[in-house]
Amino acid sequence: MDLHVVGPLASPVERAAIESVTGPREPTLGGHAARGGHEARDRRHLLLPTLHAVQSRVGWISQPALNEICRRLSVPPAEAYGVASFYALLALQPRPPVVVHVCDDIACLARGAGPLCRDLEAALGPPGTPKHDGLATWLRSPCLGLCEQAPAALVSTAGVAPMHRTIGHVDLDAIAGALATFAQADASAAIDDANASGHDHLPAGKVVAPQAGQVGLRLLARIGTIDPTDLAAYRASGGYHGLERALALGAQATVDEVLASKLVGRGGAAFPTGRKWAAVAGQSATPHYLVCNADESEPGTFKDRILMERDPFAVIEGMTIAAFAAGCERGYLYIRGEYPDAEATMTRAVEQATAATLVGSDILGSGFAFDIEIRRGAGAYICGEETALFNSIEGKRGEPRNKPPFPVEVGLFGKPTVVNNVETLANVPLILRDGGEAFAHIGTEGSTGPKLFCLSGNVARPGLYEVDFGATLGDLIDLAGGVEGGRSTQAILLGGAAGVFVGPDQLDMPLTFEGTRAAGATLGSGVVMVFDETVDLPAILLRIARFFRDESCGQCVPCRVGTVRQEELLHRLATNRLNGTRDDETRLFNEIAQAMRDASICGLGQTAAAAIGSAMTNLGTFAAPGRP
Ligand code: SF4
Repeated sequence: MDLHVVGPLASPVERAAIESVTGPREPTLGGHAARGGHEARDRRHLLLPTLHAVQSRVGWISQPALNEICRRLSVPPAEAYGVASFYALLALQPRPPVVVHVCDDIACLARGAGPLCRDLEAALGPPGTPKHDGLATWLRSPCLGLCEQAPAALVSTAGVAPMHRTIGHVDLDAIAGALATFAQADASAAIDDANASGHDHLPAGKVVAPQAGQVGLRLLARIGTIDPTDLAAYRASGGYHGLERALALGAQATVDEVLASKLVGRGGAAFPTGRKWAAVAGQSATPHYLVCNADESEPGTFKDRILMERDPFAVIEGMTIAAFAAGCERGYLYIRGEYPDAEATMTRAVEQATAATLVGSDILGSGFAFDIEIRRGAGAYICGEETALFNSIEGKRGEPRNKPPFPVEVGLFGKPTVVNNVETLANVPLILRDGGEAFAHIGTEGSTGPKLFCLSGNVARPGLYEVDFGATLGDLIDLAGGVEGGRSTQAILLGGAAGVFVGPDQLDMPLTFEGTRAAGATLGSGVVMVFDETVDLPAILLRIARFFRDESCGQCVPCRVGTVRQEELLHRLATNRLNGTRDDETRLFNEIAQAMRDASICGLGQTAAAAIGSAMTNLGTFAAPGRP
């Protein structure tokens, strides 16, 4: 490709950051890269890692840096700009090197993020205001996946030793202190301080998984009981028995075990896992890829983060078994950009597993070869959609593709691809170790196995909980200590922002696929978010509407326009500045919801009105005073 990129040159610092990913500059022929055609375009998948490298080193991506990236990777500048501007964690305008992202999403709103952000504005100025000689600022953020530690924040510092650190249970002093500390020149002292004030110092397993150490747990059995960085401890606790058995059984019998288990995906779609593997295994096109979707961005969901941070080898073992069964020779673990600790833990774990021949060219001497590469998202909810995730890895905007063709036929890089989420894969070693039939006896006929639920909002003990399928909504809330302070329940959100609100009269609902379906609800990704009587529910619905308006990729009109119109309509209802009567507004809301449901390409647009509509229908939110 003959790219003509004009403008000033990237600085030496920017070039060094780019070369840390792309390697040294190629010799040029008449000013153009020596690579050309397919060879040059094959490097496009390095675009997002290269953008990350510049963002982490400098704090923002300048036009000269973007031009240099275009030259190195042979990407047209307009396309590179389209990608760089797609992600919330990348900045294309100058930004201070230290940024504290403060979550103001629904779980944090239920636990004080609203007043916290108002206090921050009063003390520090509006989001984006430079502080400490322009070295630091704060920004509002959508859900950071730290809902059990709400309100939460993410600190990012750019520089020679860039750092990303999450902080739970933040207040004004903690955020102001983090801004001041990280703006100092001594980065190592700042990092130490982050460790001292961040959630890392919390006792392992005590806060994130309150059941830690309890007998009978399966998915959470190791959390809080073994060192997650210790491969020997993982193996001593039964780890890798599943992979050994799979290698002994063979690929087809491994698929059969998973079919017998009746395992379905835990990311929300509930597609039978064994059928997906069998479909990829049967494809003649090669290579086959495996993608572990760790881009869990659904507000209220944090289970995959905890699995990766506290039981990383179980995720790797699950990926390896899946790859063996479906004939995949390469795997990608796509972790959302807001999960720095999970990324660091998984990176170390992959290195250890590779050194122990549990990943690599000849796994356990079986001749089976499988490599794992970790990719980091950059702040885009839509990249949790499988085809948007493929585009993100390939260096394109994270926009969903039309289906069919489905990923099992045409997936990552146009090849057959298995996509499973982290929790789904964490179940796989259990199935291979204990047998598919045994797994199928856990839970109910239609929902087999153990299930993780993310309890957040106004419960006494927010955290990650494991139950066998069949427990009721009330059982889960009781496990989490009931409603905090003995207050009464106003509403419960199941499944996240794309889920459904139910009232306290539905505590008997079994949290199974069939039980929630019968009640007109959804399990989604396992979110159970409780709102007590003190929560401003209209404000929660407005935040959900803003979330979808922000996160729509804009590719199709019903979603791009519908999410904006939906938010405007809710503002009119909230402020009583109606177009016509309240019934007229409700009718219009229903029409917008139907248009989005019927004509959007992907699940984001199809579900953008679901939770809001359910609150209006089931709870009477925004109804006229005196109306049910
Ligand atoms: Fe993008 Fe929304 Fe269309 Fe999905 S429904 S492709 S998020 S515009």
